[in-house]
Amino acid sequence: MSPPLPFVNLAAQTKRLRGVLDAHIGAVLDHGRFILGPEVAELEAALVAFIGARHVVGVASGTVALQIALMADGIGRGDAVFLPAFTFTATAEAVLAVGAEPVFIDVDQATCLIDVDDLARGVETVKRAGRARPRAIIAVDLYGQPADYARLGPLARREGLVLVADGAQSCGASLDGRRVGALAPVTALSFFPSKPLGCFGDGGALVTDEEPRAALYRSIRAHGAGTSKYDIVRLGMNGRLDTLQAAVLLAKLTVFEDELRARERIAQRYDQALGGRVGLPGRRAGAASAWACYTIQVDRRDQVRARLAEVGIPTMVYYPAPMHLQPAFAAWGGGAGSLPMSEALAARVLSLPMHAYLDEATVDRITGAVLDALEQHPV
Ligand SMILES: *Cc1c(COP(=O)(O)O)cnc(C)c1O
Repeated sequence: MSPPLPFVNLAAQTKRLRGVLDAHIGAVLDHGRFILGPEVAELEAALVAFIGARHVVGVASGTVALQIALMADGIGRGDAVFLPAFTFTATAEAVLAVGAEPVFIDVDQATCLIDVDDLARGVETVKRAGRARPRAIIAVDLYGQPADYARLGPLARREGLVLVADGAQSCGASLDGRRVGALAPVTALSFFPSKPLGCFGDGGALVTDEEPRAALYRSIRAHGAGTSKYDIVRLGMNGRLDTLQAAVLLAKLTVFEDELRARERIAQRYDQALGGRVGLPGRRAGAASAWACYTIQVDRRDQVRARLAEVGIPTMVYYPAPMHLQPAFAAWGGGAGSLPMSEALAARVLSLPMHAYLDEATVDRITGAVLDALEQHPV
């Protein structure tokens, strides 16, 4: 039997970039400005150019980015924030961390992205109830594909809601030729190591075209500082991106576009081999995914997954439970049966290995094993 595969191969990328990584990290060790050193501003400028948005503010993680975004807009007690139930914990956590109430919305079955019709109904329900003030929508670009911003933008404007894109998985993706970061008034990015653009620890960023928002983000990430470090004008936090991580990201950005193309080629090879046999990742018209994950839908998912593990193919389940059924958030949800699509997906999704350094033979080994596993556990 062939040796077990890695789910995400960070070692292959590190090997490719070792020289430039060593040089960038060495430069930081030499100048010693570990907090808000020059690489942080350099990275922010490089991402401004890469994304095509006006302002990028480096922060400590994707979770911190979401939290700062809500704090900067004054969202807190008595406010309702709408978000998809089928997402990573951090999206819901940020809402509760600022004292606001999460309102969980169902997702589309094929794309796993927020269902805009269900969102519109959710906003009406909260308005009618008259208890919490509708304030923001957090749309999640799950698995790397942008949500339906062409409909989300007008809905948010009509209802006076702040539209935040949780782009933690979608840095580098685009919709109708515009990159994530330029699709919503506010975008939160994550540079967690296994995200499409990842550093060697925690990191994140906020992206916006609006200067007043960017200024608030810079202040909040540095303890609410005003014109000087010990002039504290608002509640903030220790939310900075560190210089070493910015230096690592500057190195990785040099090959990022090439890696995005590789991910798209791999996704297409998966599609070709598995089409008709499994639920393929639903692609939205005009969208180019960053392919943070390649996620199929199958019945008897856990048996298929176990069979793949036996032959050395690692898989992941993103996510085994929707947020409204998680013990920490259940008090804000409608219980089992309330968001049927999110609940069905949690039982059916299976993410296959995805990274830019998967060769064709390995993709074929994986798809062969998936087809074999399905034979044993027919869908
Ligand atoms: C990873 C992730 C986050 C959080 O990012 P961190 O950098 O790990 O804090 C938030 N939302 C989604 C959808 C994510 O996948």
